Amino acid sequence: MIFRQLFEPQSWTYTYLFGCSDTRQAVLLDPVVETVERDLSALQDLGLTLAFSLDTHIHADHITSACRLRSLTGCKVAYPEMDGLPCADIGVSEVNPLKVGSLAFQPLFTPGHTATHHSYLVELPGSLRLFTGDALLIDGCGRTDFQDGDAATLYRSIHEKFFTLPGDTLVFPAHDYHHRHVSTVDQELERNPRLGGGKTLEEFVAIMMELNLPYPEKIDVAVPANKSCGACPEETVKLIEDTPGPSVQG
Ligand code: FE
Repeated sequence: MIFRQLFEPQSWTYTYLFGCSDTRQAVLLDPVVETVERDLSALQDLGLTLAFSLDTHIHADHITSACRLRSLTGCKVAYPEMDGLPCADIGVSEVNPLKVGSLAFQPLFTPGHTATHHSYLVELPGSLRLFTGDALLIDGCGRTDFQDGDAATLYRSIHEKFFTLPGDTLVFPAHDYHHRHVSTVDQELERNPRLGGGKTLEEFVAIMMELNLPYPEKIDVAVPANKSCGACPEETVKLIEDTPGPSVQG
């Protein structure tokens, strides 16, 4: 497997690039609209063709490049089926994994940060990689005070879906605000200040309630745009151009 972790500094987002060495098909996980050119260059450098963009959830802090990538490369847009987005080409779920060449993404339904959040497990010979989106971060977790988030639900998702995996499973989050790149299930289980060291559900809920985080800067723009897979202006223009109808002048 070809693999790259790419960083977008405005929203501190990690986009992950996966490539199948045999078919040369690629998947971009949580791509960001500001870094679309960089991602296309990376694909070109690696001799890969983008087959899918894939998102963990409807983001509130950045706009996905999903539909822009579709316009530019002809890739398909994949989202959690539960989001029911008309702009998506395919929906993934725990019973509908995404397979691209030798790449296999096993979706894990992990609500709590948002109500429909999914994480992805990628199994390679001798290595399990868990892409936790905004559910579990390194020494932290996603906030639970917007988008139908719920702290108790997030606690259960992390305990039931992540902390039951082998301890050496690599944990790749969708953000890190301290330039860390990767963790493990054992490391988070032991030392995550919100969830590790045997923290109870009640303790976790109390921690989350006391965070008092500021209102997310981009949420009012990002959420509606992401419900349209990134609100791709090119596709809207193309749709209008392609729609037959009387020409309107003046
Ligand atoms: Fe998020």
